[in-house]
Amino acid sequence: EVKRAGRNGWQFYTREMQKKSEYRHTLLTNLIDAVNKEELHTYFQPIYDIANNKVVKCESLARWFKEDGSLISPNEFIPIAEESGLINRIDMQMFENSVKLLEQLKQHNVTMGLSVNISPRLFQTKDRALEQWFNTVESCSQHFDLTVEITERLLTDESEKAVEVLTKLRELNVKIAIDDFGTGYSSLSYLVKFPVDIIKIDRAFVSAIGVDSSAETLVDTILVMARRLNIQVIAEGIETEQQLAFLANRHCDFGQGFLWAKPMAVDDFYRHLQIKQLMQ
Ligand code: C2E
Ligand code: MG
Ligand code: MG
Ligand code: MG
Repeated sequence: EVKRAGRNGWQFYTREMQKKSEYRHTLLTNLIDAVNKEELHTYFQPIYDIANNKVVKCESLARWFKEDGSLISPNEFIPIAEESGLINRIDMQMFENSVKLLEQLKQHNVTMGLSVNISPRLFQTKDRALEQWFNTVESCSQHFDLTVEITERLLTDESEKAVEVLTKLRELNVKIAIDDFGTGYSSLSYLVKFPVDIIKIDRAFVSAIGVDSSAETLVDTILVMARRLNIQVIAEGIETEQQLAFLANRHCDFGQGFLWAKPMAVDDFYRHLQIKQLMQ
């Protein structure tokens, strides 16, 4: 009996695992196809200066639509892209699309910073791909205010190469932001190990404002610490006036979130800026 149950349990487990790995495989195959055809879209979410309620920069975020128009969440496809190394091509495409937006905005006399997500997988790539990426960044950094966001959950393994790349980026005047700050295992040690300009407080802490007093204390502490270290802070996922007021009272520099706007396609992003009277 026991043996049989055990065996069935084992069979069930492998079947589940197999199903999951088949799904991931199909997803990856489709994703490779989408990247080859440059079908991924780049969305933009404005980042606001909290003190004066003005848009100062935007974060670009990848969007993948299925043929039926439904969306596959980045939380689903980015990890698969990261595992396979495909992420570097995605990040490159997002970056190039974002630079196009900045150039168009410049023609409307709007200057705006750009914040792009990069995967630490970039630190593992062979020199030529990395060099190509650097060339693009270098030419762009001469004209625009650029920030590179790296999620701290992924920084761990590649720290030596990461320090090298981040230091080089800094020399190009590119700012370094630690994304999802507070969610990793050694948030504080990153601030010592890496050249950091900006901390992005994870949405998990922001959404706890007004709900969980120890999370509020953490936000407080991050803000005080960042100021002492001369690091700017962006609070992500601001959804309510109450959250904004809490952060404004504590002089948090920047914010992004649904309270102002969701990530938007280029046309909607233009419209948002027009409404905010940043464009004629
Ligand atoms: P992230 O870089 O921390 O991006 C912020 C995420 O929070 C975005 O999710 C954004 O849509 C969401 N967000 C912003 N404000 C609010 C809010 O007020 N409420 C709520 N509920 N959510 C808010 P998204 O676009 O689904 O992306 C998820 C993650 O996937 C990103 O987190 C980033 O780590 C990764 N990602 C997305 N695009 C790219 C990309 O082009 N390259 C890389 N390497 N990673 C990407
Ligand atoms: Mg980000
Ligand atoms: Mg973030
Ligand atoms: Mg996040």
